[in-house]
Formats: sequence, C-alpha cells, structure tokens
Amino acid sequence: MSRYLISGGRVVDPASGTDEVADVFVADGSIAGIGRDPATADAEVVDASGLVVAPGLVDMHTHVREPGREDEETIATASAAAAAGGYTAVCAMPNTDPVADTAAVVEKVWALGREAGLVEVLAAGALSRGLAGEKMADLGEMARSAARVRIFTDDGHGVQNALFARRAMEYLAAFDGIYAEHCEDAALAAGGQMHEGDRSAELGLRGIPAAAEELMAERDIALAKITGCRLHLLHVSTAGTVDAVRRARAAGVRVTAEATPHHFTLTDDALTGYDPNAKVNPPLRSEADRAAVIAGLVDGTIGVIATDHAPHALEEKDVEFQYAPPGLVGLETALALGISELVVPGHLTLAELIDRMSAAPAGILGLESQGALRTGGPANLVVFDPNVSWTIDPAQFHSRSRNTPFGGRTVTGKVVHTFFNGRRVVRDGAVESEALV
Ligand SMILES: [Zn+2]
Repeated sequence: MSRYLISGGRVVDPASGTDEVADVFVADGSIAGIGRDPATADAEVVDASGLVVAPGLVDMHTHVREPGREDEETIATASAAAAAGGYTAVCAMPNTDPVADTAAVVEKVWALGREAGLVEVLAAGALSRGLAGEKMADLGEMARSAARVRIFTDDGHGVQNALFARRAMEYLAAFDGIYAEHCEDAALAAGGQMHEGDRSAELGLRGIPAAAEELMAERDIALAKITGCRLHLLHVSTAGTVDAVRRARAAGVRVTAEATPHHFTLTDDALTGYDPNAKVNPPLRSEADRAAVIAGLVDGTIGVIATDHAPHALEEKDVEFQYAPPGLVGLETALALGISELVVPGHLTLAELIDRMSAAPAGILGLESQGALRTGGPANLVVFDPNVSWTIDPAQFHSRSRNTPFGGRTVTGKVVHTFFNGRRVVRDGAVESEALV
C-alpha cells in the first residue's frame, strides 16, 4: 500500500485542537505520524505548503438516488462527487425506490458504497414503511444489519402523526438510535413553491410559511424531552427553529441540528428570476432567517453543516418553476461556500468550519474512523487551498446531475487532494481514474 508524506501543510484538527504547520505521514491506510520529522522512508512527498490538511468532511445528508433513479445519480457518482468535494463519508438518505426501510435495502446501499470505494457510505433508514408515516419500519433490524444503521428519517416528508413520532422515538431511545426530522407540516406547506413572505407575494407564487417548519420542530423537541430519544433536525431554515433548538439544548434536550450551505448563502431573492435550481425544500428564506442560521452555526446551536445534496435530471428541472422538483446538488460546492460565506467574513474560524463539517457530524453518527486526525487511525483526510478563488462550473461536476444555483459564482477555497483509508482518491482536484472503475 502507498506511503505518503504530506509535507508542510497547516494541520487543522478540531478534535485535538491542533492548528499548526506539520507533516502528516500516511502508511498502510493509516496516519502513521504527525509532526515535524516522522520517519518516512519510501514515502511519496505531497507538497502541502500553503494548504490546509484536515480530517475528511462528513455529510450527514446526501441523496444518492440509487436504487431507483440511477439516471440522476448512482452511489458511485455520488461517491466521486463527495470525494471531489473533500468528503470521506456520506450518509445516504432513504427516500430511494425501493425505500430504504428494510435490512435488505440498507445493506445494498452500504455494499454499493464499499464497492465504489471512494468514501464511506452510511445508510440512513426510513422511520416508516414506504415513508408513508403510518407503520413503523423495521428499525431494529436495520440497526442490527451489516449496514449498522444509526440514523432514521422519513426525509422528504415530515412525520405528520405525533403519536407515530412518539412511538418511533421510544423505540429508538432503547438502542440510542437517532430520530432525524424533515420538519414540515404538510397541511401548512401544501402547494407551496417558496418561502412565504414579501417576495412570494411579488412573484405570485404560493408560499410555505416559516411556521410549517417551526411547529414540527417544537413538537419533536417536546417528544424528545418525554422519550429521551436523540433528535436531529435536518436542514434548519428559519430563525424560529434556531431559537427553538437553542432553548431546547439549554434545557438539556438531546437535540442536534444541521444547516445547508444554500440556506446560509442565499435568500428568497434567488427566486426573482424563477430559477428552478433555486427551488429547494425547505425553501430559501428571508435575510433575517439566513442571519439567524449563521448565528446558530456560530454559537453551536446548529452544530453541523450538511449538504442535502439532491440530484435531479436536467429535463426535470427544465420546466416551469411550479412543476420543477425541489433540490440542488451540493457535495462539490459545500466547502467553498463554507469558506466564502462563513470564514472569509469572519463568522467562523477555519477550525470551527471543519468542526461543523467533519468532527461534529462524525461525533453525532458515532464514526470512530472519521472526523479526526489520529495517529494510528485510518487516514481519512482532505488537503485544500483555503485562499484560491475559482468559478463554479457545473459542467465539471462528478455528480451525474447539474442542478445548482451556484453556477458562475466565484468562491474561495478548493479541494486539492482527498485521502480515503490512506488511498489518494482525489489528486490535484481530479478523482483518480483507477478509483472510478
Ligand atoms: Zn429534507
């Protein structure tokens, strides 16, 4: 197996508090040493001067589309997009076809991830059979399967029935599983195309009120309190939800939350030209909501940045706004948006950004192989240039889909190399071709 000396980079590891120039020696899949002068016979030198060396990023929220919509994305193409974006682990959402609501499907997703071999692919399991919100899926069976599912969600839908939510949390609490919610009251959100506010009135589009998210967030927090279950709120988008999570955490409720790059970067102003690529669920909100999401990331109320990478085929998005499905691809732009929108303006330090994108999600998911640079641990790491500016070109994506509102946007920060289990799967920004077979 290859040996690498990643030399002279700024090593940023929030888990250990390291932030200093050092060499990282990779051998036999592991980090063999970090410091100024490790013994490095036969190692290939990777010059990292001027670059940052950090634990590989961990995405808690990726739609891989396989099985069922391989025209939009496969586990192999999602893995390539993830590696190109600096990720070494992604959590695959269960809203596939068939739905990942049995041990057989989650094991299939997990096995296809291992076969692709570019990042660790974790399977999330559905809470309810067929995402119908009625009968509980075989949560224990999925947890005990080879895929070892830790996180369960009906993402794409909010769980509408509070009693179902309570029962699922009670079941999960027994083995410390995580209940993850896409907070959306279906009746309040019905027919909505974008955030409800001045902009939706101007554009003549039906709005989704912030309350559609906040009511379910508050309900789930109340249920987490009585069940003791770990609750994770997906893609938090409103000031009210941030506030609810902040109060709940202060009161000792076991709740964590994530926000997406698009929600901390864009507002409903992005809809002015009816760009179907800016249509997402939950929708892009107001400037006050965006500011509240950033404040939540700053004080740790929102501990995690997740992409909600949601590939769609060109022809699906190339329709009138109201018929376009919501979602955008995010794996290949997340780090640059984090640096550009959070680090450059001074909201987060680089170490805090890496915490939100790597150490914190790895901690929530209980991944010992991810989220930290440990001597003797697996070499899952990213080497990136924090200062280079570049223009996003969707034609260059490794994802099979191109749906992004960020095409043509100039951003700061670019992945140079990604190492997965000690293999260099991305070299000088390109996914290694032998890794793509
Ligand atoms: Zn969702």
